[in-house]
Amino acid sequence: MAIADLLATANREKRTVLTEVESKELIREAGIPVVETRLARSEKEAIRLAKLLGFPVVLKIVSPNVIHKSDIGGVKVGLTGERQVAQAYNQIMHGVSNVNPSATIHGVSVQPMALQGIEVIIGMYKDSQFGPLLMFGLGGIMVEVLKDVAFRLVPLTRRDARNMIREIKAYPLLDGYRGRDPADTAALEVALLSLSEFIEKHPSIKEVDLNPILAYKEGLLAVDARVILEEDQG
Ligand code: ADP
Ligand code: MG
Repeated sequence: MAIADLLATANREKRTVLTEVESKELIREAGIPVVETRLARSEKEAIRLAKLLGFPVVLKIVSPNVIHKSDIGGVKVGLTGERQVAQAYNQIMHGVSNVNPSATIHGVSVQPMALQGIEVIIGMYKDSQFGPLLMFGLGGIMVEVLKDVAFRLVPLTRRDARNMIREIKAYPLLDGYRGRDPADTAALEVALLSLSEFIEKHPSIKEVDLNPILAYKEGLLAVDARVILEEDQG
């Protein structure tokens, strides 16, 4: 779906939250590598897509009413066969209907299990005074507990992108800590710059949360995405 169609659909349905599947389409358009993610509307379709994409796969709830998918048992990783996919599908559906019976459910997303990498986060939100800000940090407790993050105003310069990656305290973990592979910081810089450009081009985007992006020795892959739109775009 083209960007204009995605935005129009959300607008027509009077929602500002894009689902993971929609958010990833948008983020791919921004030029950031995203794990291939397809929407399944039934158990049968989930199995068909899992076989198409190749095992192991991940299944996740797709609902504009569910923001934190794993909090409600809405993420099942490392599924290695058809039976596991069927079971995960039913567990996810039961889980959601227990927690939030009135949730609008689009289905489940099916995606390949990405190789392990260093989990980083790239985010964007709009400050009422300064306007759009990009955020960078390491995934998990580094951001949530330690608040070890760097911010820069959009539009980002190359220098901004370079510096914000290097100024977080956890930077040594990206730089090949104790003989581990370093992360591809050049690819991270490109991702930050690409998102900055995309935000400039699309003022109807209010918030972006790419959490996590897996950073590898070469390249990176976003495995989760959440985009929130401004209200009422006419
Ligand atoms: P949430 O809405 O809870 O943030 P996520 O989509 O981020 O849900 O999934 C939770 C966790 O599962 C991620 O932080 C990541 O560690 C793992 N995960 C999600 N998708 C994939 C994937 N395609 N490949 C490998 N791991 C994944
Ligand atoms: Mg996430």
